[in-house]
Amino acid sequence: MPLLVAGSVALDTIETPHDTRENVLGGSAVYFAYAASYFTPVRLVGVVGEDWPAEHTALLQSRNIDTAGLEVLAGTKTFRWRGRYLDNMNDRETIDVQLNAMGQFNPVLPDAFKRCRFLFLANGSTKLQLKVLDQCPGATLAVADTMDLWIRTERDELSALLQRIDGLVLNDSEAKMLTGENNLVRAGNRVREMGPKFVVIKKGEHGAMFFSRHETYVLPAYPTAEVIDPTGAGDSFAGGMMGYLAERGDFEPKTLKEAMAYGILVASFTVEDFSLERLKKIRREDLSVRMEEYRKMLTF
Ligand code: AMP
Repeated sequence: MPLLVAGSVALDTIETPHDTRENVLGGSAVYFAYAASYFTPVRLVGVVGEDWPAEHTALLQSRNIDTAGLEVLAGTKTFRWRGRYLDNMNDRETIDVQLNAMGQFNPVLPDAFKRCRFLFLANGSTKLQLKVLDQCPGATLAVADTMDLWIRTERDELSALLQRIDGLVLNDSEAKMLTGENNLVRAGNRVREMGPKFVVIKKGEHGAMFFSRHETYVLPAYPTAEVIDPTGAGDSFAGGMMGYLAERGDFEPKTLKEAMAYGILVASFTVEDFSLERLKKIRREDLSVRMEEYRKMLTF
């Protein structure tokens, strides 16, 4: 089943304690779409400027990602983000954000996109997320991501969004910020009370927690010794998770748990190199092999 994603399409500059990469392919919707493309056809909604290299669009298209919703806005530059990782390779600081084309984006979805039943609103302005959601009235599963910037600056819009979506994916510090709770279990349940039927809290190298009315559980991260660049781990987690749900066409509790595991495994590959470099080299079979190891690891 096709999966729609809307979010940032970016040129990132990444500084790690060991290396720096300038203007590499990134953005929440890009990581998400690539990760989901192992499981299902993807429809991408986003915006770029005139400086956007055509080869990036070609790469996405080569993965069965429909780019009819990727607008090139004349007279603008692509969204840019510059981040620096601390020595622990888990915490990072944003050095610079230039919204550029994203700041002027008014998404108008192609008709075929509006009929998608599985929808992911990747990290980006909450106002934009609402505009996309408005255009997809038939969605049966709408899930969103958010981050500290939008929790601070678009709080009212976020409260409205939470009333309208089925699931929210966010990281641990954002869940604490949104709820004012320091305990993650309480924070997860508080977010759920704000509207979504399920909440996923990403905990970086410690995996992810799931909250619904019926169950709460934690899945560990896949243990990776080689962490080169954690950028996009959260987005590719969400892409793996939603991609698997769209492939299966349901979101029963068992499917959701398997989907979480696939998300964790795609993210474990993403962090093994900069940008999409590692994902470009793996195939669905590599995910299946890692899934076997992951299942063994969790059986005792
Ligand atoms: P992640 O590491 O999964 O949190 O996502 C990193 C990606 O998010 C990078 O490729 C950035 O381009 C993108 N990003 C950073 N800040 C923002 C923002 N304020 N809105 C949307 N996307 C962002």
